Amino acid sequence: MSQNQELPYRFVIGLEVHVQLLTQTKLFCGCSTQFGQPANSATCPVCLGMPGVLPVMNRKAVELGVMAALALNCEIPSRTKWDRKNYYYPDLPKGYQISQYDMPLSQDGWLEIEVGETKKRIGIIRAHLEEDAGKSMHDESGRGGDTRVDLNRAGTPLLEIVSKPDLTSPEEARAYLEELRLLLRTIGASDCEMQEGSLRCDANVNVHIPLPEGGHAATPIVEIKNLNSFRAVERSVRYEAQRQYEQYRKDGKKFGEVAKATAGWDDERGVTVVQRRKEEAADYRYFPEPDLGEVVVDKAMQDQARVAMGELPATARVRLQETFSLSPYDSRVITAQGRPFIRYFEDLAKGSGDSKAASNWTTNAVMAWMNEHHKEIGDFPIRPDRLAGLIQEIQKTGLNMQRAREVFAHMLEQGTTAQDACKTLGFVVMGDPGQIAEIVRRAIAANPKAVADFKKGKVKAADSIKGFVMRETKGMARTEMVQEVVMAELEAAPDPS
Ligand code: ZN
Ligand code: MN
Repeated sequence: MSQNQELPYRFVIGLEVHVQLLTQTKLFCGCSTQFGQPANSATCPVCLGMPGVLPVMNRKAVELGVMAALALNCEIPSRTKWDRKNYYYPDLPKGYQISQYDMPLSQDGWLEIEVGETKKRIGIIRAHLEEDAGKSMHDESGRGGDTRVDLNRAGTPLLEIVSKPDLTSPEEARAYLEELRLLLRTIGASDCEMQEGSLRCDANVNVHIPLPEGGHAATPIVEIKNLNSFRAVERSVRYEAQRQYEQYRKDGKKFGEVAKATAGWDDERGVTVVQRRKEEAADYRYFPEPDLGEVVVDKAMQDQARVAMGELPATARVRLQETFSLSPYDSRVITAQGRPFIRYFEDLAKGSGDSKAASNWTTNAVMAWMNEHHKEIGDFPIRPDRLAGLIQEIQKTGLNMQRAREVFAHMLEQGTTAQDACKTLGFVVMGDPGQIAEIVRRAIAANPKAVADFKKGKVKAADSIKGFVMRETKGMARTEMVQEVVMAELEAAPDPS
């Protein structure tokens, strides 16, 4: 953030996000929405735009849209309608897209994001429903092959979520997108797989440049289309803002008269490529869809959606902090993994009676296993009650962390309890002070130099005595006990010098 404060301009960023809603079938026909089917196999006369067919609305899509809109704190009018957005493109067989224009499903919401320690509400202008277009597949070999089209995606239900231009840094843009994805995944509205195109993002960017006489100059907005990774969003916005600033420095006030434009993002070269003047609403000749009626979203439907959405990530973060005394950071890491992971943590915290240890084990060892194996928490082989057993074993015996990790690895491989793993590995912790004192006295006898140093006030000299004891016991003596006994025996020992 500090790097932005040094820039001679202020970012003004708004994001337009399209997410695919998690329905089995398309928005206006019964075709499957499953990803990865053979090209053009999931199509029918309705989504192919044949004459004489009629769309039938998928109620599940509206329900998911309502749920997402409520989770985004949007207002939901009691009536909403469909409109035709007309444009010609080969992947749009009807020549229009069924979308929503002047009576969207929802409007005026917000999403809270966190960048560093700062929380900020980002306004949502609207979230409306629409159908997706197909996919053109251009020959990119450079040999001039045909462009082909796959219409499997044509007619799948989308929710378009338009933010206010409240985002004031590339980091905030990324944080907004990450929070939006976590929210929609958590409530089950969308799987938000950017790789599969079920979350797509366009960024509207311009900059405000403070003027010496007061106020600021604003560069024209450029819309960067089809950003397909979080990193691309962050990089492209940063690049485009700098490009606009430099253009402004070259052209001065004239620059303010240039029309809005769209741009693409060349990820390899790391540059935006400005393409064309941006369409205005009038270019699309919107008009009400004559084949579909108005949709009534009544209170019962909203109540049902509220129940179905369950606990939101923001609420879960606060709850974990309050119930388990977690730090804001730990609660954020755990919540970001989704509901099953939160549940695992809770079971572990309750089972072990030590929420700090539970948080450390889940966010370190358990997450490391998930990342390494590209698996979910549901696939993790150690159940929370078993892992709770390990935490309790550590508390009881004072097993050190290195040994505890070996026990953990053994439990993973063998599926045993912590106690059995300790026995098999020979990790029986020595906790008898008399036995430890005997070893400490031998260490003292063998290290007159360390004792002499200690007597001269070098407290550090005790470390070599402790090291001797840990070697003798193969690290199986309780560390606090060794500490205590070594200090007591050193105090009591006669000064050899
Ligand atoms: Zn169809
Ligand atoms: Mn759209």
